[in-house]
Formats: sequence, structure tokens, C-alpha cells
Amino acid sequence: MKADGLLLPAELSRELVRVARAALPQEACGLLLGVDGRVRAIHPARNRAGAEGGRRFELHPVDLMRAEERARERGWSLLAVYHSHPEAPAVPSRSDLEGALPGCLQLILSLRGGRPTDLRLWRYAGGRAVRVELAECSGV
Ligand SMILES: [Zn+2]
Repeated sequence: MKADGLLLPAELSRELVRVARAALPQEACGLLLGVDGRVRAIHPARNRAGAEGGRRFELHPVDLMRAEERARERGWSLLAVYHSHPEAPAVPSRSDLEGALPGCLQLILSLRGGRPTDLRLWRYAGGRAVRVELAECSGV
């Protein structure tokens, strides 16, 4: 695996789909926690953009803080931010690019009619997104 890629256990990939479906028609968002590029937990966050936010997301700051605490307690770190794109491709939108932390990994799950169609990992740097390797594995 490339140094900047992520390894996502299949069980957590399914959990991600569940939380994304539960948030419909809004975008789901949250954090991926883990260590050494391997995701250990999905930490859902409230989307502060709300129902009126349309096609965008904003991590609730309290949930972000809780994710950081949970990671610290277990010796993990925040590996990436995830969010879903209901009825849109797993490609960063303009607001995703504008709101991104430089160098931060972003995982985007695309859903069509409530079914997952694509899962892509991106790194934002210098105002653009570069696709990064995402590998799925079995076990957690
Ligand atoms: Zn987006």
C-alpha cells in the first residue's frame, strides 16, 4: 500500500453505508479513526449544514472534539474525514474543496437510490483534489 493510502476493513465499509443511508436525504459526515493507515472505527458526526444546507456538509465541532478524545484514549489518530454524496458522484464538490483542511484525507461515498455505488479517497492540496489509494480488507 502507498504511504498515504488507507486500509478499510469490509465491516467498517458496511457500517459506513449504514450511517450514510440513515442520514438520507442529507449528506452523512464523520471521522475515520485508526492507526498506521488502517481504519479502526467510524465516528459519525452531526452535519451542521442541516437540511437547508443542500449538497454540502459541515462537521459539528462537538462531535469532532469527541472523535479526537476517542482517538487519543485508544492511541489512534484521525485518519480522514468522510461524507456521503446522495445521488452524486464520489468526486469533491466546490464546497468540499473550499472547506477542506490542507493535506487532509477525505473519503466520499456515493449513493444512488440508497445503494452505495462508489467509495473514493482524496487528498486536498493546493486547491485541488488528488485521488489516493483505498484498499479494503477483511477483519477489523
Ligand atoms: Zn461533498
